Amino acid sequence: MKLAKKKDCTACMACIDSCSHQALSSSIDPDGYYQIDFDTNKCVECGLCTRTCPVLSPPRKSIEESRPYAAWNTHQNLRKKSASGGAFSAIASAILQERGVVYGAAIEGFEIRHKRIERIEDLPPLLGSKYQQSIMNGVYKSIIQDLKNGRIVLFCGMACQVAGLKAVLGKCNTENLYTIDTICGGLSTMLPMLQLKQSGRYTGIVSFRDKENGWQSKGFRYALKMQKTDGSVENLGLDNLVLNTFSSKLLKRSSCLDCQFTGNNRYSDCTIGDFWGDDKFKDQHCEGLSILVTHNERIFPLLKRTNISITPIRFHDFIHGNHNYYWTHYPQIRHFFSRKRALAAMRQGKSNIAAHLMRPNSMAGIYMRIYLKLNFLLRKSFMLKFLKTQKYV
Ligand SMILES: Cc1cc2nc3c(=O)[nH]c(=O)nc-3n(C[C@H](O)[C@H](O)[C@H](O)COP(=O)(O)OP(=O)(O)OC[C@H]3O[C@@H](n4cnc5c(N)ncnc54)[C@H](O)[C@@H]3O)c2cc1C
Ligand code: SF4
Ligand code: SF4
Ligand code: SF4
Repeated sequence: MKLAKKKDCTACMACIDSCSHQALSSSIDPDGYYQIDFDTNKCVECGLCTRTCPVLSPPRKSIEESRPYAAWNTHQNLRKKSASGGAFSAIASAILQERGVVYGAAIEGFEIRHKRIERIEDLPPLLGSKYQQSIMNGVYKSIIQDLKNGRIVLFCGMACQVAGLKAVLGKCNTENLYTIDTICGGLSTMLPMLQLKQSGRYTGIVSFRDKENGWQSKGFRYALKMQKTDGSVENLGLDNLVLNTFSSKLLKRSSCLDCQFTGNNRYSDCTIGDFWGDDKFKDQHCEGLSILVTHNERIFPLLKRTNISITPIRFHDFIHGNHNYYWTHYPQIRHFFSRKRALAAMRQGKSNIAAHLMRPNSMAGIYMRIYLKLNFLLRKSFMLKFLKTQKYV
């Protein structure tokens, strides 16, 4: 039995669902990242998990041709509840109206978990970005069952999860399956969230982003809202350890510091993200504006059946403001002393030390800024190479 190395494992959890002997499960490691646990007594050494792991055995490449669009849901209510332009909600609504099933990430107490829904009224909890890794146990198996039952299925998740899904599906008939991945800057340690849980002040997460005062193409409108034990909602705003940890690269999951599923290495039918840096669709900013990049022809008949408004753009229109589309490559951060120190401080409950190490003006922060400047040069040359592979530049 061989699984991806700890530094590369995305915790997509595809291996767990591939094992019919229940030899694999997930837990949170001492640093606050999901890990895969292995029970040797249950393993029969069949090797299926190794063949399913998208890191060890990447599925066959599936992108035909990528085409970027500015996109938004014309259904204002759903768009308002979504992180950016509501591209996901428009596609999900069409699938649900056609009696299909939709899988997306939802908040469950202090955790994020992928959920299966069949009714349009169950869509709202799936909307919006949750900046914490979602639990996927059982989701892949459930999708296979839905496909076997002839259902139309939409899955939306991180690019590594879509890769996991494609790997689990193997030779399964995927004619009825549509997949969306999001542009992704990576996920971070869950230790700050676990601290909030242990404080006993809250019963769970409410949301990670705030659109009450509109979306904007520059700067982030993030705000962590928590449900208090007395039933009220507390807005912890942008400056708290959960969101500071998410915004900083220092404590990203190791696999996210060198993501294998960016650029052309995607397995979805389309990718969605925030249209950061846009200045052509300003009249749409307040309600939220998405980027939608299609990767094949089969997605277009589905898009035609949705409430989505799409306008073709070029890669140059968004790629400068959203390099996470093609680049999440900061492998040296894994070895930063400040990373080890911040994790140790968090484990000991010394949040102020961890927060200090993530501040841009601390010594560790200055070191990080220099690293990112050097990394920028590498990124720029990679971007030019990437754009050469694209038709709509
Ligand atoms: C961790 C994370 C990092 C991101 N980084 C970037 C970035 O760097 N640049 C960028 O442009 N966009 C990024 N996004 C995507 C962005 O936040 C929006 O999700 C995107 O713009 C789509 O918005 P929407 O309005 O169409 O859909 P929404 O309704 O906001 O969200 C759609 C779906 O996203 C999926 N999703 C949400 N949270 C999670 C999660 N934790 N795990 C798996 N799937 C999830 C769900 O299935 C959800 O239903 C990120 C999203 C996440 C979750
Ligand atoms: S080798 Fe087979 S039995 Fe063992 S963990 Fe992997 S899938 Fe399960
Ligand atoms: S299948 Fe996913 S969770 Fe399992 S070892 Fe590979 S990357 Fe890690
Ligand atoms: S950066 Fe890559 S590995 Fe990390 S969550 Fe995003 S898609 Fe998965």
